[in-house]
Amino acid sequence: MSDAGQGVAASPRDQVRKKISELIPSLEGLVSDLRVDYGGGHGAMDDFNSETDSDYTSYWRDWFISSRGNEYFCEIDEEYLTDRFNLTGLNTEVQYYQYALDLVTDVFDFDCDDDMREQIEKSARHLYGLVHARYIVTTRGLAKMLEKFKKSDFGKCPRVMCESQPLLPMGQSDVANSSPVKLYCARCEDLYNPKSSRHAIIDGAYFGTSFHNILFQVYPNMLPPKSQRRYEPKVFGFKVHAAAARWQADEREMLKDRLRGARIESGFEEEDDDAEEEEEDEEMEGDGFEGAAVQQ
Ligand SMILES: [Zn+2]
Repeated sequence: MSDAGQGVAASPRDQVRKKISELIPSLEGLVSDLRVDYGGGHGAMDDFNSETDSDYTSYWRDWFISSRGNEYFCEIDEEYLTDRFNLTGLNTEVQYYQYALDLVTDVFDFDCDDDMREQIEKSARHLYGLVHARYIVTTRGLAKMLEKFKKSDFGKCPRVMCESQPLLPMGQSDVANSSPVKLYCARCEDLYNPKSSRHAIIDGAYFGTSFHNILFQVYPNMLPPKSQRRYEPKVFGFKVHAAAARWQADEREMLKDRLRGARIESGFEEEDDDAEEEEEDEEMEGDGFEGAAVQQ
């Protein structure tokens, strides 16, 4: 978690960060105050013990990442969060933007009542999510999410034929508050709702519509092999006749062959994405052609 910057040569931003922490000796005390608020309960002692290996531990983010329901999120590097360029445009998306950012970056120093605090806390979570969507498509972010993917932190595909393929979180929209997070299976190329209601309410925009596809482009060896395996319906061990079992699929394939033979563009790729209406049309067409197909 607090491995930010480890194994990476100290960047100018790292040096600035060090300077800042030298310049503000009171930071230590402020950070301790914050940890009383957030660290209470589980993990507090662990944080204190692991503090030695880093001169800067992110308390709010540690707390956020380790909170129940936030298992899909990875920790955003300090340097990414403190680079204003990465936050472009978010000041209009997030209420109490500056306070929220201060909270996320552990420099929050503002006396306010509990209601206000609650509001800022909410904004901080929203801000974190929006930055998260940007962060996870960076090299560092992708690497962190890949580790979580390998550990199946996002769950496994519930489809039996997918043999516990690990899932990736994704959004159906990049605009906040449009739709909750879904899980993508690269084996069956389908989407699933998260099992837990804690995860099902997370905004899909915190992961975005591109992250899962970018991950497989950057790490193509992570793509599972494609298989044609489907469940085969049987009755008392006898295969159910194809016409009854996989009638639609068979008809589509036959229609495609005939169109290919007649050199007519079938346009199936786009049609397949569309609603069932298309399939019904195919069924109708299939009916008309069935006699001809059998005679061949
Ligand atoms: Zn699957």
